[in-house]
Amino acid sequence: MSVLIFIDQSEGVIKKNSFEALSYGAKVAELTGQEAVGIVLGQVKHDLPSLGKYGVKKIYQVGKPELDHLDAQVYTQVLAEVVQQTGAVTIIFSNSLTGKSVAARLAARLKAGFVSGAVALPDVSNGFVVKKNVFSGKAFAYVSVNTPVKIIALNQNAYAVSAGEGTAEVIALDIAVPAPKVKVTATNKVTGTVPLGEAEIVISGGRGLKGPENWGMIEELASLLGGATACSRAVADVHWRPHHEHVGQTGLAIAPNLYMAIGISGAIQHLAGVNRSKVIVVINKDPEAPFFKAADYGIVGDAFEVVPKIIESVKKLKSH
Ligand SMILES: Cc1cc2nc3c(=O)[nH]c(=O)nc-3n(C[C@H](O)[C@H](O)[C@H](O)COP(=O)(O)OP(=O)(O)OC[C@H]3O[C@@H](n4cnc5c(N)ncnc54)[C@H](O)[C@@H]3O)c2cc1C
Repeated sequence: MSVLIFIDQSEGVIKKNSFEALSYGAKVAELTGQEAVGIVLGQVKHDLPSLGKYGVKKIYQVGKPELDHLDAQVYTQVLAEVVQQTGAVTIIFSNSLTGKSVAARLAARLKAGFVSGAVALPDVSNGFVVKKNVFSGKAFAYVSVNTPVKIIALNQNAYAVSAGEGTAEVIALDIAVPAPKVKVTATNKVTGTVPLGEAEIVISGGRGLKGPENWGMIEELASLLGGATACSRAVADVHWRPHHEHVGQTGLAIAPNLYMAIGISGAIQHLAGVNRSKVIVVINKDPEAPFFKAADYGIVGDAFEVVPKIIESVKKLKSH
C-alpha cells in the first residue's frame, strides 16, 4: 500500500507546488504507515532522483511525449492504470489548475473519496479526517473520507516544503496512452512577462489607480522584483487591463509568495482568488479598506506617493 504523489510539470519543468505535495504526501505516508512514491507523466528536465529529498523513495514515470502536455482525460486514464499497477490507496495532488482538473476525474473513475482544497494533514487518530477550505477560504470543513481509495488535493501554500537527504529510485512504467478526444491545434502564449499563474511575486492594481495610464509604476515594480502584474475585476471590466490579469472568484486564483494589492478594496470576490498567497501587502489610502483585515503588512497611504518610494528603495537595494 502506498501514497502516490502527483508531480506536476509544465514544459518539462517541475512546478513548485509539486514540492509541497511531495512533502505533504511523505508525511501522510508516515502517519498511515505506507510508502511514499511519486508519479511523473511526460518527459522532464529535472533530476528526478533528487526529489527523494522530499521523502519519497520511488518515483514512477510514464515518460511518453504524448504526456508532455496536460490532457485531463488522458492523464486520468493513465493515472488510473498507474494506481492499479502500483496498488496506491492514497493519492495526493496539488490543488493547482492541473490538480483540479485531473483529481476529480480520477476520483470518479476510482470511486474514491475526494477532498479538494485540503489545508492540513489528515487526522488519522479515528478514521481519516481532512481539514479543507470552504466558502472561498471564509470557513473550514472537516471531511471524513471513508472509501478504501482516498484522493486529496492540497491547497497551494498550505503546507511547507520540507527537504532533507535522500535520493529516489526512478522506475519507468510502460502504460499505453489512450488517443486524445480533443486535439490542441495552436497555443498562443503571452510572452516576455512572468506567467501570472506561476509567479512567486504578484503586483496587483485596482480602481484606486484611477486609469490605465498609471500602470507604469505597477509594471516597473513587478519587473524590478521579477514578478507578474495582476488587477481587480473592476479594472479588467473597464478595459484598463487585459482580462487574463484579473484575479479573484471569477478570475484566476493564485497563490504566490508575495501578493501586493495597490488601490484594491479587498472585496470578498477578490480575496477568494488571492487569500492563499503566503504574504499579502496592502497599500490603500482608506484605513477602513477591508483588504487590511487579510493583510500581513499594510501601508495606509496614497499609492501615487507610496509606490514610487518602494520602487526607489528596491532600485537602491539592487544597486548594492
Ligand atoms: C459575482 C461577482 C464576482 C466577482 N468576481 C470578482 C473577481 O474575481 N475579482 C475581483 O477583483 N472582483 C470581483 N468582483 C467585484 C468585486 O465585488 C469588487 O467590485 C471589485 O473587486 C472592486 O475592485 P477594486 O477594489 O479595484 O475597486 P474599488 O472597490 O473601487 O476600490 C478601490 C480602492 O482603492 C482605494 N484607493 C483609491 N484611491 C487610492 C489611492 N490614490 N491610493 C491608494 N488607494 C486608493 C480605495 O480606498 C478603495 O479601497 C465580483 C463581483 C461579483 C458580484
